[in-house]
Amino acid sequence: YSSVEITENLLTRIKNTDAHYNSFITVSEEQALAQAKAADARRAAGNADAWTGVPMAHKDIFCTNGVLTTCGSKMLSNFIAPYDATIVENFNNAGAVSLGKLNMDEFAMGSSNESSFYGAVKNPWDGERVPGGSSGGSAAAVAAQLVPGATASDTGGSIRQPAAFCGLTGLKPTYGRVSRWGMIAYASSLDQAGTITRTAEDSAMMLNVMAGFDAKDSTCVDREVPDYTATLNNSIAGLTIGLPKEYFRSDLSADMQQQVRNAIAEYEKMGAKVKEISLPNTHLAIPAYYIIAPAECSANLSRMDGVRFGYRCENPQDINDLYKRSRGEGFGIEVKRRIMVGAYALSAGFYDAYYKKAQQVRRLIRNDFVNAFNEVDIIMGPTTPTPAFKRGEKTADPVDMYLEDIFTIALNLAGLPGMSISCGQVNNLPVGLQLIGNYFDEGRLLNAAHQFQ
Ligand code: GLN
Repeated sequence: YSSVEITENLLTRIKNTDAHYNSFITVSEEQALAQAKAADARRAAGNADAWTGVPMAHKDIFCTNGVLTTCGSKMLSNFIAPYDATIVENFNNAGAVSLGKLNMDEFAMGSSNESSFYGAVKNPWDGERVPGGSSGGSAAAVAAQLVPGATASDTGGSIRQPAAFCGLTGLKPTYGRVSRWGMIAYASSLDQAGTITRTAEDSAMMLNVMAGFDAKDSTCVDREVPDYTATLNNSIAGLTIGLPKEYFRSDLSADMQQQVRNAIAEYEKMGAKVKEISLPNTHLAIPAYYIIAPAECSANLSRMDGVRFGYRCENPQDINDLYKRSRGEGFGIEVKRRIMVGAYALSAGFYDAYYKKAQQVRRLIRNDFVNAFNEVDIIMGPTTPTPAFKRGEKTADPVDMYLEDIFTIALNLAGLPGMSISCGQVNNLPVGLQLIGNYFDEGRLLNAAHQFQ
């Protein structure tokens, strides 16, 4: 098939079926067909390589030149980005075909993709259930076979948890491995771009395109990018796997534990060794995160003021009225909650008690992992405490929703890379196995994931 035929086929599939999932916010048909034509021309000229004409789509948190970029919010519902995010540019330059922009929780805040201004996303495994969040559109689109792979972002679990809920492979790289330039900031010290795909091999192909230094992001690390596909078939005999006792808690259901333990037994059959470890500060990860992430978001979202871009209220009376009503009308309830918590935590008199304390806890959490990686090569456990839950089940109680990220959030605080791969089912719903690697050890994670798959 030509790239144009493949692209047309997927565009038709999206048109005919995405009403069931609501995974796309924007389908960029014209741009996709132009890219597909260019790919076919390249192939005809004998210049095709691995990415020529490969279809994919971007989470709507990444700026795309000339294409609506909403971040799932009314606030940016009229925002046509004037430039491409670095990773978007990388995929364009590699010859990929972008089919459009994927739904997400508003400003990436959420674990269920119920907070999008563009409506909830449905899990293709069971339409009454959530696909996870905030990259729910990326996960649903891949699970529904509308695209083979999608970009996504992970601040506290937003790649790994939706991948787990939709039976897919999610990769959150080391903080600094992938440029954040053009990725709309939620919590800048935690945000990292990554991938949701069916297989680890596809993730490795995507990471090859995304990873690398970018002078436009001062936190991006200048470090050689290996070919992540080259090590996929390495043997894992002798690999030491750490199992944190805090991740196999008594309140994790026996069924979930069983699926994860079965997967680990598979690794033992392949020659890996298993060792129990402890990450003693695990219980502090959610409280520390829910100070640091809101604090950073309250600063980052102050640029959405109705003046320079984005939503503006009707007939503002004066500048204060303009700010107040544009923000009051443009942001949804979860975003407002976090801006208020964050502004409070950063205010004079509370800064030391909350923000500074949370940063100190963050260091303890990081040290737990540094110590663990002196003893083991990789850490494994469940990605989530439960399989996909029903829409509406956790919306009444934000804390209940926040607990969803208990196993994923600590990695972001430490800046470590992590993956989720599908390892079985409970009640016909997929269960995720989380793989946690040392800094810049994405190659080993992808290798271990590929050997299981
Ligand atoms: N669920 C977490 C939050 O709401 C993580 C979201 C994310 O990783 N973007 O902040």
